[in-house]
Amino acid sequence: MRHISAVNLSTSAIDYEDNIIDTIVQVLKSGKFILGQYVEQFENNFARYHRQDYAVGVGSGTDALVFSLKALDIGPGDEVITVPNSFIATVAAIEHVGAKAILVDVNDDQNMDPQCLEKTISKKTRAIIPVHLNGKPAPMDKIMQIANANDIDVIEDCSQAIGASIHGLSVGTFGIMSCYSLHPLKNLGAFGDGGIVITNRKECADKIKLLRNHGLIDRDTCVQWGYNSRLDSLQAAILSIKLEHIDELIHKKRDLAKVYFEELSGLPIRLPIESNDEYCVWYTFVIQTVSREELRDYLKINGVEALVHYPIPIHLQLAAKKLGYSPGSFPVCEAQAGRILSLPIRADLNKDDIRYISKLIRCFFESGG
Ligand SMILES: *Cc1c(COP(=O)(O)O)cnc(C)c1O
Repeated sequence: MRHISAVNLSTSAIDYEDNIIDTIVQVLKSGKFILGQYVEQFENNFARYHRQDYAVGVGSGTDALVFSLKALDIGPGDEVITVPNSFIATVAAIEHVGAKAILVDVNDDQNMDPQCLEKTISKKTRAIIPVHLNGKPAPMDKIMQIANANDIDVIEDCSQAIGASIHGLSVGTFGIMSCYSLHPLKNLGAFGDGGIVITNRKECADKIKLLRNHGLIDRDTCVQWGYNSRLDSLQAAILSIKLEHIDELIHKKRDLAKVYFEELSGLPIRLPIESNDEYCVWYTFVIQTVSREELRDYLKINGVEALVHYPIPIHLQLAAKKLGYSPGSFPVCEAQAGRILSLPIRADLNKDDIRYISKLIRCFFESGG
């Protein structure tokens, strides 16, 4: 029996281990641990990868979102619309700046439903945060159309979708600012926490640079209260190397996804959808089945770990009480929470691993589910 875990971070650097160790030694010898050349280099590389003018490294994906909202002066009295099935941090960021998080339901593909979005916009709506969940682009054409018609800013949460695109346009290039987590679990992951914001607006980049570094414009001059939330130089140097290999990693994951699509077709499960104009990066490969718990247990006793991203929708979390939602508020999202299952799709797995997992799933359903 094989043992396939959902996550195996200890192998995530092995392909270019020597380069990474050399780089770490270089940073240690330089003594440049906070901001400086390694952070600037990674920011330039990351901006260039997205053909955007500016990138600003920060302490986490959550802070990337908080700072983006603050850069637009969004706060008390304002509303920001996002989805209830993201990682909790998307909503936490909105609440942290004092704005009110307004949630809208999702479509079959787990991304924001533009019709729900359109109906939910109010006079107080200042921003929309679409999330490219699971590495699949949100429907940005429709979202941007609605946002532009109502003169509302869009901040993309690209934490799960670096490298994804819609008709050749990279996610992260639609909104006024776009936020990425560089958490070790993400497709572009550091060896610790990190985040980054990209934008074409110099004034936005400048504001985020102030916010991440105590509001200091130079060593001794503080122009506003800021935060201590910078991307570490050590992480930035490591990420520059990993960024060189990100397309390779995405290709690997797409090859594995292809095997799932071939091997799992015809079963009573809902496979993810990649339409013709989309390029998905499969941060997670999420299937939907009414027998989720049984299938998950079956995989587990056969050595395969499958996780659920995420079992409790944000509006049903204890922390979300004052948002005023209840069970039934977002029927599509809630139904999906009981059906979704993330199959292993680590880049260090091979096609045989995926065939093995697929065969187990086939056995499960052929023996009566
Ligand atoms: C991971 C993630 C975040 C939070 O990023 P951190 O770096 O952990 O703060 C925010 N949004 C989404 C969609 C994520 O997947």
